[in-house]
Amino acid sequence: MADDSLPYDEATFPGWVKTVDSWPWQHVGPSKWKKVGQCPRCHHEIYGVFYERTILFSDDAGETHSGSPEEVYVECNCGAPHAGRPEKETGCGPDGFFPAPSKVQGGSDGS
Ligand SMILES: [Zn+2]
Ligand SMILES: [Zn+2]
Repeated sequence: MADDSLPYDEATFPGWVKTVDSWPWQHVGPSKWKKVGQCPRCHHEIYGVFYERTILFSDDAGETHSGSPEEVYVECNCGAPHAGRPEKETGCGPDGFFPAPSKVQGGSDGS
């Protein structure tokens, strides 16, 4: 059950990450992925979005490579007014990084 009176708290607990991680990525458009579910903390519907894109990064030897982001940032982004929430924040607080869909589901790199 959704609980609007739950106070905002950024202390992400392991069960939150585990549950959100278990939601499947859905391919919802060109280069766009989305996962949707009920926030394990406040039980409001939240979502995470991943855009496939190419980024440049440097390895330990200083060489530049291109590739896809391997992690996606997802936070509770429900619209409920959780008490004590900073103005620029959304949701009830928990957040985390999750494996990008290209890593989880085989990926699109044909090398
Ligand atoms: Zn909420
Ligand atoms: Zn929440």
